[in-house]
Amino acid sequence: MEKRPFVTLKQLREIEKKYPTPFYLYDEKGIRENAKRLKEAFSWNKGYREYFAVKATPNPFILNILKEMGCGVDCSSMTELMMAKACGFKDDEIMFSSNDTPPEEFAYARKLGAIINLDDITHIACLEETLGYIPETISCRYNPGGVFKISNDIMDNPGDAKYGMTYEQIREAFITLKAKGAKHFGIHAFLASNTVTNEYYPMLARILFELAVKLKEETGAHIAFVNLSGGVGIPYRPDQEPNDIAVIGEGVRKAYEEILVPAGMGDVSLCTELGRFMLGPYGVLVTKAIHEKHTYKEYIGVDACAVNLMRPAMYGAYHHITVMGKEDAPADHMYDVTGSLCENNDKFAIDRMLPRIDRGDLLVIHDAGAHGFSMGYNYNGKLRSAELLLKEDGSVETIRRAETPADYFATFDFCDIFKDVQ
Ligand SMILES: *Cc1c(COP(=O)(O)O)cnc(C)c1O
Repeated sequence: MEKRPFVTLKQLREIEKKYPTPFYLYDEKGIRENAKRLKEAFSWNKGYREYFAVKATPNPFILNILKEMGCGVDCSSMTELMMAKACGFKDDEIMFSSNDTPPEEFAYARKLGAIINLDDITHIACLEETLGYIPETISCRYNPGGVFKISNDIMDNPGDAKYGMTYEQIREAFITLKAKGAKHFGIHAFLASNTVTNEYYPMLARILFELAVKLKEETGAHIAFVNLSGGVGIPYRPDQEPNDIAVIGEGVRKAYEEILVPAGMGDVSLCTELGRFMLGPYGVLVTKAIHEKHTYKEYIGVDACAVNLMRPAMYGAYHHITVMGKEDAPADHMYDVTGSLCENNDKFAIDRMLPRIDRGDLLVIHDAGAHGFSMGYNYNGKLRSAELLLKEDGSVETIRRAETPADYFATFDFCDIFKDVQ
C-alpha cells in the first residue's frame, strides 16, 4: 500500500516557521480513529480494556487522548507510573507489567492501586516482603518456551526470552498466591513482537485460554482476566498488508467461545497492552536535508539523527521516507540518508531509492509514533527534539518542547561552571 503522510508540505512549511526541524508530529485524528476501531473490535467482551504501553510514547498529552478513548495504561517503571498518576489514571486503569522489578516500584504501583503483573515466581516473596501482603487481584506472566510459529513461520523465540514463568511455575505461583490471599487472577503473555498478520492474537488467545482453563481446574483460582499484551504490529514497509483489527477481534472471539465459554468461563475479561499498533503510524519524524555528499556513495545529511529515532541504527529497521513535495516524482536516486552522529550506523536509510533530494527539502520519516522519541538518547551531546500534536482542527500544539543545552547540563546543577555558558 502506498504510504502517504498525514500532513502536507504546505502545513509543514507553516509549522516550520515556529518549530525548527527536527520534530515529532502526531496525528490526533488518526490516534482517535484507530483507538475507536480497536475498542469496537473487542466490544463483544464485556470487561475489555486496552492498557496503552506507555513506554511506546510516554507523553501525557497522548496518554490523555487515549484516556478519553477509554484506555488504561501499561507501565513498566517508576517514572511511567508517575506519569500515569499525573494524568489521573488509577486503580485498575493501571497495569504494572515490568520485569526485574525494583521492590520500591512494586510499592509505588500498589500506592496507585495498579494491577501488578508478576514476571517471575520469585517475585511473590519480594512483593510480600515489600507490601506486607499480597493484593487481592494479581496477574502472572507466562512463557511457554520453544519457538512461536504461525503456520510454518517462526514468529519469535519465547524460549530465548527473559520474560515470564514456565507452566510449572505459573501453576505453583497461583497456588502460593491463593494461599496468601489473592482472589482474582490474570494471565499475561507476550510471545511475538510487531506481528503483521491477523493470526497472532487469535493464536495467542488460544494458548492463554487453554492455560486459563487448566489453571482454574488445577488450582481452583478465579481467572478474572487474560492479557494478550502487545505485539500486534504495523506495516513499516509499503508492500506489507496492514493488520485488520476487526478480523483480529473476531478471531479472538471465536477462540473465546470455543474454549472459555464451554468451560464456564464466559465472564473472563480481556486486556491488551498495545503500543506500536496504537501510535506507530500516527507519529512521524520531520527532518530537513542540510547536506549532500558524493563520495563512494551518495549521501543526504539531515538534521535529525539516531538519537531522535534509534530503530534503524539499532535493529536495521525499515522506516519509509517521503520527500515532501516530491511524492509523485520518480524515485530514481539511490541514497544513504544519514544523521550527524560519529557512528557509521547513524543512517535512516541505506541504498534507498528516492526522488532527487535538494538541500532544504523536508523529509517525513514514517511510523515513528511508537518506540521512536521514547528510545531517544543524548549521545554526542545531541538534544531531544520537540513533540507536536496535529489536532483534529488542523492546529498544532506543543506537547513537549525541544531540549535546550540547559537541560543537557541540568544534572551538573551542583557545580557552577555551566552557569554562564550560553
Ligand atoms: C513493550 C510492551 C508492550 C507493547 O508492545 P508493542 O510491540 O508496542 O505492542 C506491551 N506489554 C509489555 C509488557 C511490553 O513490554
